[in-house]
Amino acid sequence: MQIPAAFEYERATSVEHALELLRSGGPDARLLAGGHSLLPMMKLRLAAPELLIDLDALSDELGYVREADGEVRIGALTRHREILESALIAARFGVFIDAEKLIADPVVRNRGTIGGALCQADPAEDISAACAVVGARLVIQGLDGQRTISMRELHSGPYETTIRDAEMLVEIRVPVQPGIGSAYEKVKRRVGDWAIAAVAAAVRLDGGTIASGAVALTAVGGDVTAQRASDALTGAPPSEETFAQAARLAAEDCAPQTDQRGSAEYKRHLANELTLRALRSATARALREES
Ligand SMILES: Cc1cc2nc3c(=O)[nH]c(=O)nc-3n(C[C@H](O)[C@H](O)[C@H](O)COP(=O)(O)OP(=O)(O)OC[C@H]3O[C@@H](n4cnc5c(N)ncnc54)[C@H](O)[C@@H]3O)c2cc1C
Repeated sequence: MQIPAAFEYERATSVEHALELLRSGGPDARLLAGGHSLLPMMKLRLAAPELLIDLDALSDELGYVREADGEVRIGALTRHREILESALIAARFGVFIDAEKLIADPVVRNRGTIGGALCQADPAEDISAACAVVGARLVIQGLDGQRTISMRELHSGPYETTIRDAEMLVEIRVPVQPGIGSAYEKVKRRVGDWAIAAVAAAVRLDGGTIASGAVALTAVGGDVTAQRASDALTGAPPSEETFAQAARLAAEDCAPQTDQRGSAEYKRHLANELTLRALRSATARALREES
């Protein structure tokens, strides 16, 4: 039987209230969003917070997708299902729709949140790579105000973030850019499973050239952003040669480990192949945006 250690429970009524509870609870307080990562960890005693701060009542305040000031803004408590069903996201950022379709199953997507997914910092989690390639900025709120960080600055290691004790993620901001196309490709063992390997890609076309490009990898170790692959795209023509070069660099620079999902060699092969596929798909979408 899986039973968590004893804990205190508080239901936050606002962001300010959640932050006050975090401050009074200290390092042993944890936020509860959808609970699909934290509760299993508590049952297995991999996590044993003394105070659980339930954010569910903040679903209206922090559950939204809207466009403002040239950005698509996604509240941290937006559920996976709401992102998947957002016409605004579908029209702008195919990479999120591709990734969300492949996350777990409808039961998990009905409760799990984008903020919880990013803050869980699981190396096999799909949304971080999607956020990275579209240049998402993350709004972190503390009692003294807000700060904004890049996707790269959020994770300090597996299951670790740079969010401080009395802070929380409140919003994800994605810049809207003309001519951009993005896509996500994932290989998993069976429907609903975590990735063996996955790749997010985005290209912004301008007059037959890739004005900016980005590749990010999931579940293959190393930094989420494949920097040399991204650099190889920028300024190059959107050709098979360019994609092959970026895919080779992405595969070279990742650091996969052999585990029950596959060998390191197989995962490196997937990093190459999935980068190619994601770039082709992102480019096809960018061409539609341009025309
Ligand atoms: C069977 C199963 C299969 C899954 N498959 C996949 C998959 O294929 N791909 C994938 O990407 N994910 C997968 N997931 C994970 C799923 O996406 C979770 O919903 C997600 O990882 C966590 O979101 P949550 O809202 O449930 O967060 P919670 O479990 O509530 O919280 C996770 C962590 O984030 C912290 N946190 C939550 N919100 C905030 C915030 N606003 N600010 C700061 N910290 C916060 C919590 O304190 C906790 O440490 C799977 C989960 C399950 C149960």
